[in-house]
Amino acid sequence: MTISLKKFHTFGIEVNAQKIIIANTLDAIITSWEISQRANYPFIVLGEGSNVLFLETFSGCVVINAVKGIFFDEDKDAWYIHVGAGENWHALVELTLKKGIPGLENLALIPGLVGSAAIQNIGAYGVNFKDFCYYIDVINLFTQQKIRLSCDECQFGYRDSIFKHIQKNKYVIIAVCLRLTKHWKPVLKYSELINLNPSTVCAKDIFKTVCHIRQSKLPDPSVIGNVGSFFKNPFIKDKHIITLLNRWPNVPYYPQANGDIKIAAGWLIDQCNLKGHRVGGAAVYHKQALVLINEHHATPNDIVSLAHQVRNKVGEKFNIWLEPEVHFINAYGECNAVEVIS
Ligand SMILES: Cc1cc2nc3c(=O)[nH]c(=O)nc-3n(C[C@H](O)[C@H](O)[C@H](O)COP(=O)(O)OP(=O)(O)OC[C@H]3O[C@@H](n4cnc5c(N)ncnc54)[C@H](O)[C@@H]3O)c2cc1C
Repeated sequence: MTISLKKFHTFGIEVNAQKIIIANTLDAIITSWEISQRANYPFIVLGEGSNVLFLETFSGCVVINAVKGIFFDEDKDAWYIHVGAGENWHALVELTLKKGIPGLENLALIPGLVGSAAIQNIGAYGVNFKDFCYYIDVINLFTQQKIRLSCDECQFGYRDSIFKHIQKNKYVIIAVCLRLTKHWKPVLKYSELINLNPSTVCAKDIFKTVCHIRQSKLPDPSVIGNVGSFFKNPFIKDKHIITLLNRWPNVPYYPQANGDIKIAAGWLIDQCNLKGHRVGGAAVYHKQALVLINEHHATPNDIVSLAHQVRNKVGEKFNIWLEPEVHFINAYGECNAVEVIS
């Protein structure tokens, strides 16, 4: 018999797992892993499931990280907040602001847990998780050794970290420590935040504006199943942007420090007239082309076929091949999302 995963991931798709364990302690995570190893069962740790697509029944144990605890410390320059990986990210943002600690306001309303925030280095409105990361505590499942990784050791990049690569399946994040400076400056580079006055604005104003923007353009996963941005924003070389600008002078692009150029994936999809495009029960969200939604009882295959069509249309038009931001999980664990939709 299998158990429904529907309420444990935000796509809200009907998929099951052999076993689901809610782990409130580190010991519970380790015990579940040991049992899975002995039974030769696949094993995966999940937060709120807001960045995963289950492709089929998971033939193993899904452990929901519910290890909590928030501890504050400070020195003359900064606050240090040690947070259990199982705490909710948005609740942490609210709590810090309530305590008069600014810094996380641009990252308001991002679904998911604090531990998972490190995995893809969550970011929004010009701010990324890595900007505040002081250290990450992990457990090495194979040695059961606790390790503290510095921010540099986590090798954070755009929606990327060491946890997505060589350390995948080896480390479980159990806590993070954020360092929030006492010399706060507002970050007002994107969207409606540009209209705020940097000399008078406070962190709570930014928080409210970010919440307002997000609520007006992103679907609420408790109402419409989705995982936020389905694709990553692609990076291209300067030769390619010249070709694009000749044909589409309005293409939004963002030069990076390393010379690459970031392109808005949502704009590319929109130019292919794909907003509202449907495959089975899945659709491209009509207000934001980067978001694929479970409109009506979508199956994993509906989402995969839709993502395949979006990738091909954008690729054929712009010679830019989008890659999913979301983690694809098959019966045995995480698999290569690009291969699945190619
Ligand atoms: C409406 C909406 C808006 C969003 N907006 C943004 C945004 O603005 N910016 C952004 O960056 N993201 C955004 N996201 C994506 C998502 O919220 C983030 O990626 C979030 O950090 C995922 O957290 P989670 O707890 O749901 O992780 P999950 O989806 O549960 O897990 C994600 C991956 O991390 C692994 N994992 C989870 N916990 C651990 C752990 N403790 N140790 C090791 N591995 C672990 C899982 O196995 C999985 O591979 C959005 C999603 C939605 C639905």
